[in-house]
Amino acid sequence: MSISLTSSLGDTLGSSPGATPDAPAPKAVSSIQVRGACPHDCPDTCSLLTTVENGVAIKVHGNPDHPQTGGVLCNKVSRYTERTYHPERLLQPQKRVGPKGSGQFEPVSWDAALTDIAGRLKAIAARDPEAIVPYSYAGTMGQVQSESMAARFFNRLGASFLDRTICATAGGEGFTQTLGGKVGMRVEFFAESQLIIIWGSNSIGSNLHFWRHVQQAKRNGARLVCIDPRKSETAEKCHEHIALLPGTDAALALALMHELITHDWLDHDYIARHTLGWPALKERALQWPPERAAEVCRVPVEQIRALARDYGQCFTDRQPAAIRLNYGMQRVRGGGNAARAVACLPALIGAWRHRAGGVLLSSSGQFPVDRAALQRPDLLQGRQPRTINMSTIGNALLAETSAQFGPKIEALIVYNSNPVAVAPESGKVVQGFAREDLFTVVLEHFRTDTADYADYLLPATTQLEHWDVHSAYGHTDALLNRPAIAPLGLAKPNTQIFRELAAHMGFTEPCFSEDDETLCRTVYGNQVDFRQLLDKGFVTLSLPDAPFAAGNFPTPSGRCEFFSERLQAMGLDGLPDHVPNYETPGSSSQYPLAMISPPARNFLNSSFVNVKSLRDIEGEPVLEMHADDAAMRGISSGAIVTVFNARGEYRVKAEVSARARPGVVNGLGIWWRKLGLAGTNVNQLTSQHLTDLGRGPVFYDCLVEVQADRPGEPVV
Ligand code: SF4
Repeated sequence: MSISLTSSLGDTLGSSPGATPDAPAPKAVSSIQVRGACPHDCPDTCSLLTTVENGVAIKVHGNPDHPQTGGVLCNKVSRYTERTYHPERLLQPQKRVGPKGSGQFEPVSWDAALTDIAGRLKAIAARDPEAIVPYSYAGTMGQVQSESMAARFFNRLGASFLDRTICATAGGEGFTQTLGGKVGMRVEFFAESQLIIIWGSNSIGSNLHFWRHVQQAKRNGARLVCIDPRKSETAEKCHEHIALLPGTDAALALALMHELITHDWLDHDYIARHTLGWPALKERALQWPPERAAEVCRVPVEQIRALARDYGQCFTDRQPAAIRLNYGMQRVRGGGNAARAVACLPALIGAWRHRAGGVLLSSSGQFPVDRAALQRPDLLQGRQPRTINMSTIGNALLAETSAQFGPKIEALIVYNSNPVAVAPESGKVVQGFAREDLFTVVLEHFRTDTADYADYLLPATTQLEHWDVHSAYGHTDALLNRPAIAPLGLAKPNTQIFRELAAHMGFTEPCFSEDDETLCRTVYGNQVDFRQLLDKGFVTLSLPDAPFAAGNFPTPSGRCEFFSERLQAMGLDGLPDHVPNYETPGSSSQYPLAMISPPARNFLNSSFVNVKSLRDIEGEPVLEMHADDAAMRGISSGAIVTVFNARGEYRVKAEVSARARPGVVNGLGIWWRKLGLAGTNVNQLTSQHLTDLGRGPVFYDCLVEVQADRPGEPVV
């Protein structure tokens, strides 16, 4: 039986009291609560409850009935109504009237915009459809409003493929080559662990609901260790903080293996039954005594020995040890190898035998998303378009037609992303977007840095205004998002924009007529009970508690692959190793400081930067510096400084802070360029080099110098 989503809109969970018989009848207030899901790029994927009065969203709360959310949202999304009703929301299609980048637009009708866009795309496609490129990422994590109707549209058109690498592919590939996919332990069982290693993650800032489990474990006596170049809020609250240099995580992991081997803290039975390539890995790890790793990581050798002892003791005491890895550590040249090295550790001590043991990077590989049904690759009709890597969009937009590159990019359709702010080496990105011969369409909520370069700016709905279905990457619940309010102004869901654009292009395949109800049902097919999604708003996937207690990894061998024959077949090292950064700390006298760019706590990538109440908390773009590095340069806390390297410069407020270790500065991101101090942001300095595995960006592999501002003096 088909359940009409439209008729369920406004599913009432509670209502305001009406008038009492004795009181004068107040104006009737219709109040409902609508279940939804947080759309942002965060592992927690919270269940939302939106209170709507007379068709206006009043407040967004955390759903107390959803165990993963526990009724609590982060500070950012609890202000979601401020974002939705922001006075600068785009509510009508706009056409550029000024120079590119000037942000000068005039309103146009939907029909005029889509007719012109379709005409321009048809003309380009007649020459070569691969000259048209989609550009999208996790502006919404929803399966429907991200890559469903949009993917169908670009497949039908024969546009270039986009390699969506900008966040997670190095670690994802490292895990795929080792464990078989983005799979791992269930997040709720961290509460039962005896040792928790939080590796490359500021959980309090960007994985808040995981932190609740950590606190529970701590109350139960667990030891907490944080591995991060930055002394984050999370590192402060752990028992131990290992502040290694960026890009040295694999060296640390190999030294831990060295200690496990030399002290025989090894689960030989688990290794023999459920792993592949142990003799080779053992030989590799024995090349990494803690002294060598301490030198590379620039941490005290005793910290490495102590962590190995704690980890090994979990094996000897039959206690669960768990690692929460996050994506920060893989944004360096050797990020894929580093993730691989960490992914090997649990098998060595048999941590997978416990439900509270193992490692979790991402749970996204556990969701049964039917991408073929959603995205319809059959519409390609056998074509194999070239692929553009989103992490090198700067270079791609500046490339001319060649046999190797293919056709010069003539049109870019941007949705769910703000590449001018978030893509590396933004000097080149801006240069590319500024090309007068590039036709750019941007689907957006606001006039972002990228939107300023659009030829057409199309108003998209926010999460409160459309349907979607969400998989999580930090837990294993699927969620449904119902619209709480009608679309504001003339905004439309991405799905509808691509549906109408397809019609203007003359695409007549029935799949372009499917509505959002059908798309929501298509996400998991019959693998997830859609009725339950409608009734409760979430469904917990049915998964074993300890999925790899007896092996059964989703690798070709079914084992944890210390040695990867697939990597070897690609001409790569079959074993994990330390791969030094492109820009190794200490290697340049001109740029002696390593810079990482973790997220500012009140922003999420570049989302929320324009929400005034959150930007007011952040104040200005900040660079955290160690006191020694600041003193050496005559910089005091609060001074406006220039951070620079050969790729460019940006200005920030220096914060002399114990959060920064010597030799490393933390440029908190990601500010919109035009809302920063001098029209650039941290990505003016990052490079377009790629990771060893997964073709990802190397945001944290970046050398810089910092100079106290002296008015009138040019930066060299
Ligand atoms: S950003 Fe993360 S913590 Fe905040 S509401 Fe969304 S899912 Fe929850």
